[in-house]
Amino acid sequence: MKESVLCLLNESANKFPQKIAFVDIDRKVTYSDFVSEAKKVGTFIAINYAKGLRNRPVAVIIDRNIDTLTAFFGIIFSGNFYTAISMDLPEDRRNLIIEELNPLCIIDARKKGAEISGAIKLSNIIESTQINEQLLKNIQDNSIDTDPLYTLFTSGSTGVPKGVLISHHSVLDLVEAFNDAFGFDSDCVFANQAPFDFDVSVKDIYNTLYVGGTMHIIPKKFFIMPKMLLTYLVENKINTLIWAVSAARILADIKAFDNPEYIFPLKYLMFSGEVMPIHVFNYWKKHFPKACFVNLYGPTEITCNCTYYKADREFSDDDIIPIGHAFRNTRVFLLDDNDKIITTPGISGELCVEGSGLALGYWKMEEKTASAFPQNPFLPEFGNRIYRTGDLAYYNESMELCYSSRKDFQIKHFGHRIELQEIERIANAVPNVDVSCCIYNKESEHIILFYQGSEDKKHITRYLAKKLPKYMIPHEFINMPTLPLTNHGKIDRKKLLATAE
Ligand code: AMP
Repeated sequence: MKESVLCLLNESANKFPQKIAFVDIDRKVTYSDFVSEAKKVGTFIAINYAKGLRNRPVAVIIDRNIDTLTAFFGIIFSGNFYTAISMDLPEDRRNLIIEELNPLCIIDARKKGAEISGAIKLSNIIESTQINEQLLKNIQDNSIDTDPLYTLFTSGSTGVPKGVLISHHSVLDLVEAFNDAFGFDSDCVFANQAPFDFDVSVKDIYNTLYVGGTMHIIPKKFFIMPKMLLTYLVENKINTLIWAVSAARILADIKAFDNPEYIFPLKYLMFSGEVMPIHVFNYWKKHFPKACFVNLYGPTEITCNCTYYKADREFSDDDIIPIGHAFRNTRVFLLDDNDKIITTPGISGELCVEGSGLALGYWKMEEKTASAFPQNPFLPEFGNRIYRTGDLAYYNESMELCYSSRKDFQIKHFGHRIELQEIERIANAVPNVDVSCCIYNKESEHIILFYQGSEDKKHITRYLAKKLPKYMIPHEFINMPTLPLTNHGKIDRKKLLATAE
C-alpha cells in the first residue's frame, strides 16, 4: 500500500531515471532531475519554514511551467500540502485566500513578473539548497495516506471561495481506478491543458507519474491560437488528452481536423467539466475513429471524477452522452427529495458519492463541510460520509447514469465552475446596488446581472473586477426598477431568464 504520492514519483524515477517526465515551452526535465530539484525545495521548506511541522499549507504562485510542479513536489517532500494561486485572480481574492490559509510560506514559481512581497523565488531555492536525504527520508517514513496533498479553491455561494482539501489517499485511489479502467502505459504522452489551480490538471500530473509517461504543459496562448496548438500536438506526438469540454470544443468549432496535417496519434480523449455537445464529440470521433473517448464526471470534492462512460457508439444530435458508471472502489447513487434511493430509469435525483475520493473537507469551513459531506443516510450507526454533489442525474434504459442539471445556481462557463450567488453577494455590496440577481443564458453563454438601484454599470464592473476572476464578471448588466418576485417572495429567476432570452 502506498502512503504518499511520492511513491508514484519515486517508482517511475527508479524505473525511468533518464526519461523525460515533464516538458514546458522552455525546457524538459528527466524523472531523475525532477526528483533532485523537488528534493531541494523540500529540504529548504523543511529546514527554514516547517521546522518539524507537517500537514501545513504552502502557497505556490503558479505558471504554466515545470517549476510549478517542482514547487508542488518540493512541498510534498517537506511533509506539507500545496495550494495553487494564480496571478490571474484579482489581488483582493488572492489576498483573501492567503489570509484564510495562513501558509508556512509562499513560493513564486514564475519565471517572469513583478516580485511579490513575502514570496520566495523557486529558482533561488534551487540554486542555494543542498538536499538533505536523511531529513526527507524521516519525513517520508512518517507519512500516512490520509495526510492532505493539496487544497483547491473554488467559487463559494457565500461570497468566499471554498478550499477543497484532498488527501494523498484520494489521489492514489483515483490513479489506480483510472489505470484499471483505461490501461494507460508509459508510452502515454499527455498534453496538459487545464491550469494547475483546476483539478483536471491533477489527472495529468498523477497519471503521468503512475505510468512513467511524459506530460507536456501546453502554453495558455495556444488555446487562443489553435494553429500553434495543433502543430504542437502533431510535432510532439501527443496521444493522451484529458481536457475540459470547452478545450475540445475549440478545435471542433474551427473544424481543425479537416486539414489532415493536423491529425495526431490520439489514443485517448477524456473530457469533463460540463455536458459535451454531440456535434463536438462526433467531429472528434469521425477524425479519430480508433481513439478511446471517455466522458468523465465529478466535482472537485470527490477528487476529479467518480463516474466514466466510454463513448464507443454513435450518438445522434438529440442524444446525450451518459456519464456512465462509478469507477472501481467508488459508489454513486441517486437520492430523491426524501432521501430514498432511485433505481427506476428516467427519474431524476441528486447524485451522491461514497468512497475514498471524498475530500477531507473544506478548509476552515466546518459547517459547510458538514452540510456537503453529511452522514450516509443508510448507515447512521457509524461515521460514514457521503458527498451530495448538487447535480441531478437519472438512469437511461440501459441503467447508465445521465447528467441532467444542477439543483442550485452553480454553472459551468467555459470550464469554470461559478456560483452565481457569489457574484450577487459581491454586487450587492456595491454602494448603490439595492439588490441583484445573476442569471446564466446558456444560448448566448452570457452571465447577466440584473440589479435594482441607481448604480452605474461601469462602477459595478470595476468593483467586481477587484474581487472576482475575469471569467466571473457578468457580460450584461440590466438595471430594473424592481426585480420580479415569485409568490413566495423570492426573486423570480425564471422570469428574469425569460427577459434575457
Ligand atoms: P468542478 O468541481 O470544477 O470539476 O465542477 C464539477 C461540476 O461540473 C459537477 O458538479 C457538474 O455540475 C459539472 N460536470 C463535471 N463533469 C461533467 C460531465 N461530464 N457532464 C456534465 N457536467 C459535468
